[in-house]
Amino acid sequence: MQDEQQNAAAKATASPPERPLVVAIDGPAGAGKSTVARGLAAALGLRFLDTGAMYRAITLLAIEAGIAPSDGAALTALTESLELDFDQDGRVVVAQRCLEPAIRRGDVTGHVSEVSAHPGVRAAVVARQQEFGRRWDGLVAEGRDTTTVVFPDASHRFYLDASPAERARRRALELGVPEEVARIQAEIELRDGKDSGRKHSPLVHGAGVELVQTDGLEAGGVIEALLELVRGGGVEP
Ligand code: C5P
Repeated sequence: MQDEQQNAAAKATASPPERPLVVAIDGPAGAGKSTVARGLAAALGLRFLDTGAMYRAITLLAIEAGIAPSDGAALTALTESLELDFDQDGRVVVAQRCLEPAIRRGDVTGHVSEVSAHPGVRAAVVARQQEFGRRWDGLVAEGRDTTTVVFPDASHRFYLDASPAERARRRALELGVPEEVARIQAEIELRDGKDSGRKHSPLVHGAGVELVQTDGLEAGGVIEALLELVRGGGVEP
């Protein structure tokens, strides 16, 4: 009896187990989410979860298997059959095959929004992402629905934005084709329209998610600002 009372008292005074740090970052294409999330993860000593890479991996494997981006049933079956994983450098891996850089190809980028709009595909991918959340000891995730659907209870949630012109300029520089900025802006706006307009888990700036406007800011400055916010400094970028 005394033991039971002592146990109960110990339980009541023990502090709750500390939750691993989860930072979720969403935003439209080319807002710098990936560079910022990667940098933030490195600075915090956490793993980086590139959720877009998972949808890109499914799109690449579907193209290789000859599955049409409109075929929701076949894409769902394909997704459920895959063991999507990441290596220590944060690169997406399936059956020990690293799918970088093939998942960045133009044909994959062109089809990924249609593939990722199927609810069966999303359900399987989100379940896997949440499994990473339980298994890894903290992480920084970036994508379109990480703040709203995948990790709505994240320790910190940010929405990274910039004007379409700024996002296209950055993406064109990143790809080494500054002369193609107009084509890239059209492609970004088309993809944003599909990602924001879809029925299931559209890209939205969720309630309570901190908006970070990055026009005119370097990635390093954004990382520093987010680090301050995560560490409790509260400095706005
Ligand atoms: O971020 P990234 O450009 O690699 O994302 C590729 C595509 O994957 C997006 O345009 C979107 O269609 C899809 N995606 C998504 N949900 C996420 C991340 C990406 O639907 N959380």
